[in-house]
Amino acid sequence: MADGGEKIVVLGCGGFIGSHLVERLLDDGYEVAGMDRTRAKLGHVLGRKGFEYVEGDMADAGTAEEMVERGDAVISLAALCNPSLYNTRPLEVIDINFTHALPVVRACREQGKRLIHFSTCEVYGKSKEGLAGGDGGGVATGALMSEESTPLILGPVNMQRWSYACAKQLLERVIYAEGSGNGLRYSIVRPFNVIGARMDFIPGVDGEGTPRVVPSFMKALMFGETLKLVDGGTSRRSFVSVGDAVDATVRILERAEASTGRIFNVGNPDNEVTMAELARLMINSYEKQTGREAVARTETVSAAEFYGEGYDDCDRRVPDISLAEELLGWRPKTPLGELIDETVGWYVKEYGEKSG
Ligand code: NAD
Ligand code: UDP
Repeated sequence: MADGGEKIVVLGCGGFIGSHLVERLLDDGYEVAGMDRTRAKLGHVLGRKGFEYVEGDMADAGTAEEMVERGDAVISLAALCNPSLYNTRPLEVIDINFTHALPVVRACREQGKRLIHFSTCEVYGKSKEGLAGGDGGGVATGALMSEESTPLILGPVNMQRWSYACAKQLLERVIYAEGSGNGLRYSIVRPFNVIGARMDFIPGVDGEGTPRVVPSFMKALMFGETLKLVDGGTSRRSFVSVGDAVDATVRILERAEASTGRIFNVGNPDNEVTMAELARLMINSYEKQTGREAVARTETVSAAEFYGEGYDDCDRRVPDISLAEELLGWRPKTPLGELIDETVGWYVKEYGEKSG
């Protein structure tokens, strides 16, 4: 809870996580100055007391400095973080995740403001098992990804999938160096596949292109299409609810002493599934909630066909969350089944009429 009068700057407040974070901060009594290029997901908070929304672009000179001035602490989320863009629009991905995020770090250091920066679990890259050509089955000792000991293993430069991970990693290194060398007070968040209401667009309804996997499967379910499993759907992800992720973020904000100078994995190690299993769980949830029989077919597509050249996959990533447990007293609460039901239910309610 805010002690009173504390103002938080949220950059990228109009995105999926940002839209939930702003609501939670306002509920907890913080004042919020948020900025984004779009307000489409902010209908529930626009006009609320204590919320000031600024529409703008992080690429514009002076924006970072001006926004940092507005608050006591800064939470930076602005990003392009959709894997279908990493190999198709790599320069834009590098710019927003590094070039235009760098002035925020510098402004926080110069103005003596605390920074909570959203990085990504993608910085870990491929798992050691994946690199060794293993099938990723079974949680081997050491398979958990730990903030302070796991190596960060990215693919070659011609595999542009890694443009995002590399940009995010370089910014983490700048933040770390500004902290250890120049006294920047920072915390870094590495989210692991956050899902929930207000996630990505549905192609053909409110956006174009390829969203992340859950909205991609939702599009197929709602429009009677086949769910596409990239390279057979054997890659694994650990999904965490947006509510749990926001709760971890607020704990970082509240526990400044324990969290300053730290990197935190924010994910749910108990919610790991293969993409083929995810498809099955979503099909079941959709049928249960709508009473409609889904077309419910899955088909395998090659990564090159689905994403184009230069895509590469991360085989599996499971977070070690012991640091967040120890320093923040945080553990995610939402099990996978409940999380899938909630998310599928939200999409059906939000887009049901549009999909007929
Ligand atoms: P999102 O795409 O929903 O939100 C990002 C927001 O940044 C968008 O609203 C977008 O308009 C804004 N933005 C992009 N470029 C901008 C610019 N030039 N100027 C102003 N605003 C700009 O993403 P999200 O899922 O909410 O992710 C939030 C953060 O968490 C990102 O930094 C992302 O890299 C990180 N992250 C998210 C996940 C996840 O599973 N959702 C996983 C790992 C990391
Ligand atoms: N994926 C899939 N079908 C889709 C979309 C994605 O099989 O329609 C796979 C993708 O190749 C990856 C996983 O689902 O292995 C998760 O992809 P997502 O885009 O959600 O994010 P990532 O975890 O890779 O950042």
